Amino acid sequence: MRPPLSIVWPWPLEVSAYLALGQHIEVGDHPCPGCRRRLGGWSGYWRWVRGPGTQRLWIRRGRCSRCLHSHALLPDFLLERRLDEVEVIGRGLALAVGGLAMGTVAEQVGVRMTTAREWRRRHQLRAPALAAALVALAVYLDPAAVLLATAGEATALEALGAAWQRARARFGERVPTVWRFWSLISGGQALGTNRSPPATRGFGAGWMAPSP
Ligand SMILES: [Zn+2]
Repeated sequence: MRPPLSIVWPWPLEVSAYLALGQHIEVGDHPCPGCRRRLGGWSGYWRWVRGPGTQRLWIRRGRCSRCLHSHALLPDFLLERRLDEVEVIGRGLALAVGGLAMGTVAEQVGVRMTTAREWRRRHQLRAPALAAALVALAVYLDPAAVLLATAGEATALEALGAAWQRARARFGERVPTVWRFWSLISGGQALGTNRSPPATRGFGAGWMAPSP
C-alpha cells in the first residue's frame, strides 16, 4: 500500500501564529508512515490558506531515508487540497447538513456557492466511510456503545461529535477543536477523493502520546 502523502500534525496555536513564523516553522519529530523511521531531509513548499483573508504559508516536507518517500506535514487547521481553513469548511458543512440552503451557507462562511457545494458533495460521498471510522475511533477511546440518532450525512457529523467528546474526556486539552480533530484523525482526507476509508491511523497523533 502506498503511504499517505501528507501527515497531519496538531498545531497548538492560532493560524496567525503559524503564518507569522513563515519558513521558520518547527514541526517536531514525525515517524515515516511506511517504516516508522524518523523523517529527516527537510524541505518544504508554499501554499495558500483562506481564513479571514488569503495568505501564504510554508508547509514542511520530510523525507524518509529508507523508503525515499517524502511527506508533507500539514498543520491540523488544513485539509489536503482544500484552500479554506478546516474551521470554515466544518462550519459550512454543519450549516448545510443542518438544513440551511447552500446559498446562505456560502454567504455565512464567506465562500462561493460552488465551493460550498463541492464540500457538501464530497462529504456526502465520504459520509458512510467517515461515520464508520469515527464510530470505531469512539469505541476505541471508550468501549461504551455509540448511539446515533441520525441517518445519512448527519450521522458522520454525529459520530464526529461522539469521537471528539470521548477523545476530550480521555486526553483533555491536548485534543484540538472538533474540526481540527476531524482533519487530524482523517489525515487531512476528510473530504479526500480516494475511495478507501479514511485512515484513522492518527492514533499516533501527538495528543495521544504520553505527556512529555
Ligand atoms: Zn520510511
